[in-house]
Amino acid sequence: MREKTQAPRNVQGVVSDLLEIGSRVQPFSKESRDKAPRIRDAKVVHSVCPYCAVGCSQNVYVKDGKVIDIEGDPTSFINRGTLCPKGSATYQYTVNSSRLTKVLYRAPYSDHWEEKSQDWAMKQIAQRVKQTRDETFVERLEDGREVNHTLGIATLGGATLDIEENYVIKKLLNGGLGIVSIENQARI
Ligand code: SF4
Repeated sequence: MREKTQAPRNVQGVVSDLLEIGSRVQPFSKESRDKAPRIRDAKVVHSVCPYCAVGCSQNVYVKDGKVIDIEGDPTSFINRGTLCPKGSATYQYTVNSSRLTKVLYRAPYSDHWEEKSQDWAMKQIAQRVKQTRDETFVERLEDGREVNHTLGIATLGGATLDIEENYVIKKLLNGGLGIVSIENQARI
């Protein structure tokens, strides 16, 4: 008769393992048993995957002010803790040393990029939108119909814009500026 061995305690201190499956995969060295998940004690910030319109929920783990991991949120009814390969790679998006964190500007006909402040960039965008809108704004068509629009500007929004953000964008761009070409890929 085969002698029944007692399953060793695993890191969580669980001893019930009637099929002894766990005993074959538990860490036996003290060094392994003493290890803890790196996300233990991390602060969890709920977020949304930045990539596509599915809008999978993510848990962003933050420790000492730094993002240390990003995983699928198991409480989400959209993705139930899963992420596709692209979403699973979100962590590298935040820590990648190639990521641009400053505004770069290349002037027309220039062969190099210049570093600029965010204030400078925002003013440039505002001035160019205003100038283009003023130059292309049409109050009435040739047949007299009132349209109050511009076909000189189009906008394309991101995947993670939600209903409320899209409402504000529509109010500003369409109601405020007369832009009619407004599109984004968000469907959440
Ligand atoms: S995890 Fe994948 S499917 Fe989900 S939102 Fe991100 S890119 Fe889309």
